[in-house]
Amino acid sequence: MATSEDAVKAAWKVLDAEPDYATDLTQRLVRVPTVNPKFIQDAAQNREPAAQDVVEAELKAIGMSVDRWDVFKDRPNVIGQIAGDEKNSLLLCGHIDVVPIGDRSTWTVDPFGGEIKNGRLYGRGAVDMKSGVAAAIGAIRAIRKAGIELKGRVAMHSVVDEETGGFGAIDAVKKGYLAEAAIITEPSWGEIQVCEGGLEWIRITITGRQGHSAWRYNEIWPQRDEPARLRPAVNAIDIATRFLDAVRNFESSRCRNRQHPLLPPGMNTINVGVIRAGAGLGPDGLPLIMTNPAIIPDVAVIDLDYKFLPSQTKEEIRTEFESFVHHFCQQDLWLQQNPIKVQWELGGLHFPPMNTSPDHPLAQALFRRRSQLGGTPKMAGFIAVADCAHYAGAGVDAMICGATGDGFHGTDEYVDIASLEETTKTLAAAIIDWCGVR
Ligand SMILES: [Zn+2]
Repeated sequence: MATSEDAVKAAWKVLDAEPDYATDLTQRLVRVPTVNPKFIQDAAQNREPAAQDVVEAELKAIGMSVDRWDVFKDRPNVIGQIAGDEKNSLLLCGHIDVVPIGDRSTWTVDPFGGEIKNGRLYGRGAVDMKSGVAAAIGAIRAIRKAGIELKGRVAMHSVVDEETGGFGAIDAVKKGYLAEAAIITEPSWGEIQVCEGGLEWIRITITGRQGHSAWRYNEIWPQRDEPARLRPAVNAIDIATRFLDAVRNFESSRCRNRQHPLLPPGMNTINVGVIRAGAGLGPDGLPLIMTNPAIIPDVAVIDLDYKFLPSQTKEEIRTEFESFVHHFCQQDLWLQQNPIKVQWELGGLHFPPMNTSPDHPLAQALFRRRSQLGGTPKMAGFIAVADCAHYAGAGVDAMICGATGDGFHGTDEYVDIASLEETTKTLAAAIIDWCGVR
């Protein structure tokens, strides 16, 4: 093969001859329900191994060497590789798990039927992201079928458990399955998404002093400090409301004063997600009694979803938040003695930021090829978080490029078939551009 241009033409010729490959593969994958068992336990829906069987067979059929292992019991990752140089090596990654369908009656199609109508393929996982897995495999397959030998090593990661924290990708990273660059084929609506903010889940534990509600007056109105005076209680919920007010101000100050050029201003939010308060701290870190308002509660537990900008580090934001909490506590005599506790990585959740330059040659290749195919791509950031974070955290230059669709995590999920075909072609060309040909 003379040049990269010739190779791209040859790969596109294969894809033009078999335009339905990625759509068919998406359909076959959608028909195997792979609801993440951390949401719902149901053998009929928790079929990640069966879907990975389909993926594994495709990877083997195109001559990739395959590694497969269980991340959790009966929840396997599958990785296919074609040997090559470490320089300009590339990994493509998609997740095989999906979120539950929700209320079945709100769907107008079979959620696991893979029905095709009006240029759309419907079903849970159609766009998030079995079509992404299919597009990546379709791209590598076209390169192989065209007889192209790539210089850089190429890998395909089909991972489990993205929807509840990315523990499939984390495990692949732990096993050393890395490359110089990565494309995560999550839906990107024509965009090339080179950055995303980091995300932490934080548990806040506020400690008060338990008491009888009838004696609340003793807590809030100063009584003479005589020997007969009962020891006043300290209401942890009252402290929590003041704390949340302060968090809201802190959030708005962070959002106003720090921005990233590729993300909407204000995306570095602090979402107050879960609050539990009551009497007594249980061994699980939660209040023991949450049913009796006659008790002045001594425990309030608040879980936060804490986003930060692609340009910030985990260390930086942890120091900053802990210092905020410390200064809040310094304003109160009780909290000086009983400071608020901060627990990081609640549920093991931590997404490092991704901050790849839009000038990265792989991002540029994706942009150029997508334009060449008639698209009007945009360099952008991703608002939420995806598996790319875990590769980025390990030093891989990661980015997101995928298809168009809607209804993900909702109802009547679909992928736009034309965008799936375009994505497959874009990926095939960008893989050739980045890895180089022999
Ligand atoms: Zn996804």
